[in-house]
Amino acid sequence: MFKRVLIANRGEIAVRVIRACQELGVESVAVHSTADADALHVQLATRAVCVGPAKAADSYLSPISLLTAAVESGCDAVHPGYGFLSENAEFADLCAKSGLSFIGPSGDIIRQMGNKAAARALMQEHGVPVVPGSDGPVPDSTAAAKLAETIGYPVLIKASAGGGGRGMRRVDDPADLERLFDEARAEAVACFGDGELYLEKLILNPRHIEFQILADTQGNVVHLGERDCSIQRKNQKLMEESPSKALTPELRAEMGKAAVAAAKAAGYVNAGTIEFVVDREGHFYFIEMNTRIQVEHPVTEMVTGLDLVKEQLRIAAGLPLSVQQEDITLTGHAIECRINAEDPTRGFCPCPGKTEFLHLPGGPGVRVDTLLYNGYSVSPYYDSLVAKVIVHAPTRLEAIRRMRRCLAELVIDGYPTTADFCHLILHHPDFVRGQYDTGFLAQNQEELLRWECQSLSDQ
Ligand code: ADP
Ligand code: ADP
Ligand code: MG
Repeated sequence: MFKRVLIANRGEIAVRVIRACQELGVESVAVHSTADADALHVQLATRAVCVGPAKAADSYLSPISLLTAAVESGCDAVHPGYGFLSENAEFADLCAKSGLSFIGPSGDIIRQMGNKAAARALMQEHGVPVVPGSDGPVPDSTAAAKLAETIGYPVLIKASAGGGGRGMRRVDDPADLERLFDEARAEAVACFGDGELYLEKLILNPRHIEFQILADTQGNVVHLGERDCSIQRKNQKLMEESPSKALTPELRAEMGKAAVAAAKAAGYVNAGTIEFVVDREGHFYFIEMNTRIQVEHPVTEMVTGLDLVKEQLRIAAGLPLSVQQEDITLTGHAIECRINAEDPTRGFCPCPGKTEFLHLPGGPGVRVDTLLYNGYSVSPYYDSLVAKVIVHAPTRLEAIRRMRRCLAELVIDGYPTTADFCHLILHHPDFVRGQYDTGFLAQNQEELLRWECQSLSDQ
């Protein structure tokens, strides 16, 4: 096992990785920007190094600053978390060249799966179903228009380098294609420095179902069941649960098999996620692979009893997986709510501020992963995620009731959050019945916001 790990991230995921290191008897080195000197991960790590100014491009996204910190503090491995440099192939290569184990797949695998158009092609070659769409990238809007006619509208224009729901445009009317193509290209260039686009058929109101996989250096690949992440705003996840109400045991087995096949096709090593959309008839289609730990990994940990971050460290250290497929069972039901410092009544705009008072929920079956403490000022420079509340219970209904209780207990004073909005979703009859898809929030937003405004005025 490693002696000392540099955590090349911040926020709740840095805290999460530090905890795994501590339990494994591994030292942790936190990095922070000048804006994060008083952040929780800095206080919890064995030691901390300042790697630059507030602007992420000059600190958390600076490979040289991070590698210097790792080498100078005597680390033998680097955990990238999610976001930032976690899916940056050059950073993984640089770690390897500097004699540091990158806790994730190799640069080559990240590169291969990071281009979503190329990943689609690879999956197709290996018999994993993909959404009907372009073979590779589409050069311009004329080619896109031609292809869209054969695929059939509506179509989705997507960025090959995409992530976080960016660089994506839905096209319903051929007359809008050129404009939306240009918009998607501009956003892709702005967000990823890469304007390459591809085309997919838009699956109407699908479920977003993703499979967690683990692969070690000995060639063992297992899947840990699915997460249903269909509660999304702006193609970004807000609530996740496992198992999914939409899967039968047969479909779960079939998709799990496809996920393992996908990981094997990629020659994958470490923890990864295969994302699918599932249509009303239960047809499933690969959309992308995330080559890192995912925000919503705790729901899988709750139902499998496994520690995914510890598994990541074991794999990177060359140890075999601690489990085989037949050892993995899904017990009970888990739900996660993402608590973002955002105002749902103002289009979910980020609203950072000082945490005037904080009270976190507890009790049986409850887990809170957070960067918050009383008095902490949420930084305007970074992602608005401030906490994740995760519950585990024997059945889905009990998990829903437990989560309602947790969100009623949770107090975050000082700025608006998504907590009350999640609380309302937990009371929506379609959510309670488990009858929802990725269109749920868009369809119900007005009603939910009406409820929210009402409950605010009642206070
Ligand atoms: P997950 O399924 O883990 O939520 P996301 O694609 O939503 O995956 O990304 C996880 C985190 O990384 C989010 O906080 C998101 O804002 C951030 N993120 C994803 N892609 C990028 C990117 N290309 N640049 C910056 N941040 C990103
Ligand atoms: P990102 O890299 O930004 O996470 P994804 O390809 O994973 O992008 O897509 C994000 C979300 O957009 C999905 O979770 C799903 O809700 C929606 N989506 C993506 N592709 C399709 C599609 N072909 N049809 C319908 N919805 C899609
Ligand atoms: Mg995705």
